[in-house]
Amino acid sequence: MRESAPNKQEMASNMSLAETIDTGSITLDDLVDLTEAAVKAVDQLYGRAKACIAERVWDYDDNRLSPNLIEREQHAVHGLAWLATYVETLRQLSRYARKADAEGRFGELEQLLVQVAFGEYLHQIAGGIAMNQGEFVRPMELDLRRADIAVLYDGAASELLRFGNTPNTRARLVELLLQVEGATTFGDCGLDETLEQMRTQMRRFVEDKVAPNAHEWHLKNEYVPLELIGDLADLGVFGLTLPEEFGGLGLGKESMCVVSEELSRGWIAVGSIGTRSEIAAELILGGGTDEQKQSWLPRIASGEILPTAVFTEPNTGSDLASLGTRAVKSGDHYEITGNKTWITHPVRADVMTLLARTNPDEPGYKGLSMFLAEKPRGTDDEPFPAEGMSGGEIEVLGYRGMKEYEIRFENFKVSAGNLLGAAEGQGFKQLMQTFESARIQTAARAIGVAQSALDVGLSYAREREQFGKPIVTFARISDKLAIMAAEIMAARQLTYYSAREKDAGRRCDLEAGMAKLLGARVAWSAADNALQIHGGNGFALEYQISRILADARILNIFEGAAEIQAQVIARRLLEGQN
Ligand SMILES: Cc1cc2nc3c(=O)[nH]c(=O)nc-3n(C[C@H](O)[C@H](O)[C@H](O)COP(=O)(O)OP(=O)(O)OC[C@H]3O[C@@H](n4cnc5c(N)ncnc54)[C@H](O)[C@@H]3O)c2cc1C
Repeated sequence: MRESAPNKQEMASNMSLAETIDTGSITLDDLVDLTEAAVKAVDQLYGRAKACIAERVWDYDDNRLSPNLIEREQHAVHGLAWLATYVETLRQLSRYARKADAEGRFGELEQLLVQVAFGEYLHQIAGGIAMNQGEFVRPMELDLRRADIAVLYDGAASELLRFGNTPNTRARLVELLLQVEGATTFGDCGLDETLEQMRTQMRRFVEDKVAPNAHEWHLKNEYVPLELIGDLADLGVFGLTLPEEFGGLGLGKESMCVVSEELSRGWIAVGSIGTRSEIAAELILGGGTDEQKQSWLPRIASGEILPTAVFTEPNTGSDLASLGTRAVKSGDHYEITGNKTWITHPVRADVMTLLARTNPDEPGYKGLSMFLAEKPRGTDDEPFPAEGMSGGEIEVLGYRGMKEYEIRFENFKVSAGNLLGAAEGQGFKQLMQTFESARIQTAARAIGVAQSALDVGLSYAREREQFGKPIVTFARISDKLAIMAAEIMAARQLTYYSAREKDAGRRCDLEAGMAKLLGARVAWSAADNALQIHGGNGFALEYQISRILADARILNIFEGAAEIQAQVIARRLLEGQN
C-alpha cells in the first residue's frame, strides 16, 4: 500500500481508472452529426408530448388554458417543462459541438463531455427525467407511447443511447479531468478569447482573495468584507452590463455569466453581491424615469451604493402578486407599513428596491408599485438606524456572507420622487421584466457552485485511498465526477444561450427559466455527490464541501422555486398551443 497519495501528474500519467475496462477509441467518429440527428428525434418526441398535455389542460369552452386543469395535472405539466428543458439543453450542446468542431476546439475532453451528456439525457428522456431526487416524469405520464419512444431506439439517438454514457466513456472522461485538474475550466467552453481572459482574471482574483478565506467567513457567519466589495467594484463587477453612458462597461450578458460563475466558484456570497445591483439596475434601466437613471445607475455601476431587494413577505413568497405591505401617499412622500422577510444583505445596503401595494382596492399585481427606498447603512448592533424600520437576523444553513433579515416597516417614509417610473401600479410588471437577467445570473451562480463541488470532489477522490488505491479508481466514484462534469458543460451551454438571446434583444424568459431550473438541480446533485465522495469527512464542518452543499441548496428556492419555475415554463410552452 502506498504511503502517500499520488500527485496529479503521477495520477494522470500512470493511472488507468478502470483497469478492467478498455478505454481505447471511445469517442464516436461522427459525434457532431449524431447529436444533430438526435436533437431532431427528441424535438419530435417533445412535439408529441406537448400536443398531448395541451389537450389535457385546455378548456375548450373558454378556448384557453385552464388554471384548474393545470393545477390538477401539475406532475405532467411540470414534466413537460423539464422535457423541453432537456431538449433545449441538447440542442445547445449540439450547437456548441458543431461550432467547436469547426473552430478546431473540439478535443477528446470536449467530445466526451458532449457524448456523456447526450447519453445520459437521452436515457432519462426515454426512461424518466429527474425533476428532483424523488420525482421523475416518465414518458407514459406525458402520454408518450412505445411507438413514440421508438424514435430514440433508432438511428443517431440509439447510437448515443448505447455508446454515449458508458463505463468506458465515463472512465476516460475522468482520466482527462485529472490531467487538467486545477485548470480554469474543464473543457473549452466555446466562448471568445476576451471572455476567457476575463474568466482567467476573475479566477486569479478569487484564488487570491476569496478561496483562502471563504470557508472561515462562512463558519463564523461573517460578512463578505467591504474591502473585497470595493475590489469587486474596481474590477467593474457592478456595472458590467450597464451601458457606458451610465458608467457601466457596456458588455454582454455572457460576461456577467463568466464573472458570476467564477466568483460563485470561490463562494456563492461573493457571486451574489452583484445580484442585487443587477436587479436594481435592470429595474431602473427598464422602468425608471430619465432622472432616476441619471441619478442611480452610475452610483450602482461604481459600487458606491449597494442595493437590496425587498419583495417577499412572511405569508407571500411564490405568490408575490398578493403581497400586503402598504404604501400610502402623504404629500411629497409615501409611508410604507408591513412585514418583509428573507431580505438578503439589507443592513449594509443604501437603497431598497421595495415592492408595496399602493392600491388596496386592487388585490392582485395591478395594485403594486416599486420604490427606490433610501436607507442608512447599519451594523450588527443597530441593523436599521432609520425611523419606521426594524428587524432581526434569520440564521441560515448556507448562503451566508450577506445575512438574511426579516424587516418590519411602520410608516417608513420614501420620497414620492423615488416611485420607480413615477407611475403607480407598474411594480409587478417592472419586476417581471428583470427576471430574465436575474435568472440568467442565478443559473451562472449555480454553475459556479457546481464547478466548486467538482473541484473539491475530484481533488479528494484523487488523494483519498481505500483498499490500497485512490478512490477515484473506483467506478462508482469516477462515475459521479464524470456526470458532474458533463452536466456542468450542458447547463453552461444552455445558460450562455439564454444570455446571447437576451443580448440580441429577444424575449428569453423561457430560456432563462430553463437555465435556472437545470442549473439549480445540477448544482445540488454535484454538491451532494461531491459530499458523498468525501465519505464521513464530507459531514465535517471543517471540509469545504459542507459549505458548498448548504450553498447549493438555496438555488432551487429563490428567484422562483423549482416548482414555480417549471410552472412558468410550462405555461409559456402551452400558451397558444391549441
Ligand atoms: C436564503 C434566501 C434568500 C432570499 N433572498 C431574498 C431577497 O433578497 N429578497 C426577497 O424579496 N426574497 C428573498 N428570498 C425569498 C425567496 O424568494 C422565497 O423564499 C421564494 O420565493 C419562495 O417563497 P416562500 O419561501 O414563501 O415559499 P412558498 O411560496 O411558501 O413555497 C413553499 C413550497 O411550495 C411550493 N409551491 C408554492 N406554490 C406552488 C404551486 N402553485 N404549485 C406547486 N408548488 C408550489 C414552492 O415551490 C415551495 O417548494 C430569499 C429566500 C431565501 C431562503
